[in-house]
Amino acid sequence: MKEQLLHLLNSIRVSDILDIGVIAVLIYGVLIWLKKTASRFVFIGIIILSVVYTAARFFHMYLTEYVLRGFFAIFLIAIVIIFQEDLRRFFERLAIWRPGKGSPKLLESPTEPLVTAIMRLARQRRGALIIIKGKDPLERHLAGGIPLDGKVSTALIESIFDPHSAGHDGAVIIDGERVTRFGCHLPLSRNSTKAAGLGLRHTAALGLSELTDALCIVVSEERGTISVAMNGDIRTLEKLEDIEEEIDRFYRLRSPEKERGKSFSWLRSNSWEKGIAVGLAAILWLAFGFETETIRRDFTIPVTYRNLPADWIIESQEPREATISLMGSKQAFDLFDKSTLRLTVDMSNIREGKQEIPLTPRNVEHPSNLTVVGILPDSITLTAHELTPREVPVQVQTTGSLKEGLVLEGIEVSPETVKILTTGQNMKDIKILTEPILLDSIQASTRLTPSLILPPNIIFADRKPPVVTVTINVSAKADEEGKESGKENKP
Ligand code: ATP
Ligand code: MG
Repeated sequence: MKEQLLHLLNSIRVSDILDIGVIAVLIYGVLIWLKKTASRFVFIGIIILSVVYTAARFFHMYLTEYVLRGFFAIFLIAIVIIFQEDLRRFFERLAIWRPGKGSPKLLESPTEPLVTAIMRLARQRRGALIIIKGKDPLERHLAGGIPLDGKVSTALIESIFDPHSAGHDGAVIIDGERVTRFGCHLPLSRNSTKAAGLGLRHTAALGLSELTDALCIVVSEERGTISVAMNGDIRTLEKLEDIEEEIDRFYRLRSPEKERGKSFSWLRSNSWEKGIAVGLAAILWLAFGFETETIRRDFTIPVTYRNLPADWIIESQEPREATISLMGSKQAFDLFDKSTLRLTVDMSNIREGKQEIPLTPRNVEHPSNLTVVGILPDSITLTAHELTPREVPVQVQTTGSLKEGLVLEGIEVSPETVKILTTGQNMKDIKILTEPILLDSIQASTRLTPSLILPPNIIFADRKPPVVTVTINVSAKADEEGKESGKENKP
């Protein structure tokens, strides 16, 4: 147990921590979303079905598995439709997200003129609907309305909601310290439980708060009360004065400077969900990502030499390959590139003749998270010879015969000798032969560069064949020449 724990701690890499981190963030996101969303039951349904499906697979319940698998494809489309709004919001937020940046910096929050206006409207029982934008964009939820770009002031808000004015119907949109639009039509809430007993203005405020993170303030015309809707909840304030605290808090949450002041508060908020998310991610990682058991795999690779002096050759080696057994975790093998595995023997202490060289784990180049547990065979037998330099003549080989009427005057080789390295045994009268030169095709004196044939256990001194030039001198036959000259001389 203790050993396993140590093994686990030893094999945790930075990427494993990141692995857990990413999953924890995802789980946390789902938990927070579940807390807020009304689609909770749909999600719980999905989880139950997934559990049933996994169980069906595990116990080989073919029919259930088959039907559910077919169902999941349709299901995926259904999920996209059901969570359409949540998905849109998710991608919208992802698109506008910048690290450490809230909504644009407010020079001066418009709380005071706003509060004064709202309280006056409530006292005079004039209906109003005021939306303060959060981080989410609002445009796609708004219909109609008249654009305006004016600084928030008590007089402006009061004038907009003057029942004699044409623009008092609908909602005013405030972004930061400016009124951007008024007379807007908002989407109505579709949550029949929460909207029960509410008039249209309140239902519209609730509706927008379900779709965005805006603060929606309603002044009731009938009752002279102030209600605030946020994140899909609406409540009526007990005292009119409480609106100041609500607005103030909303602006404070969105102001980047204030956020920086309480930099560690994010750790404290939702700490339960965070704990659960990290715990669950770690458990999942242990269950799926990490495997404590070690496995063994065999690899057959060729034996290679290191530090073999240039003037030595290995005449024979038996066997040429060896099988290496490696042990480690499955992940280590997954990440292992077989081509990096090498079995190399050091040849710096090579001797003349036949010898046995042991193969040990020290001859194996392998990643540190894998261990060599065996090499088969555990030694190789080879015969090595030290080579001595010699200079030997080059002999030209020819085949066929010269055309009739041609006579071979001589064959010249340049250079006449080449430098080779040999083992010195049985190598008294070595000659290096050229590839056979075909005489039949020769018409006149010719110069050629045939390649050289290397006998076994001989290498050229600088490890590459030298260029040898062969000149074949021919001439026309003497008697024919005589005849011809005789003819000429006859008259
Ligand atoms: P109140 O308590 O003020 O009467 P209420 O919630 O009972 O509010 P209604 O009496 O139905 O609401 O108020 C109607 C007013 O609400 C309309 O005159 C209009 O200004 C506003 N309103 C209704 N529907 C919307 C909407 N979808 N978007 C914005 N404003 C709306
Ligand atoms: Mg009403």
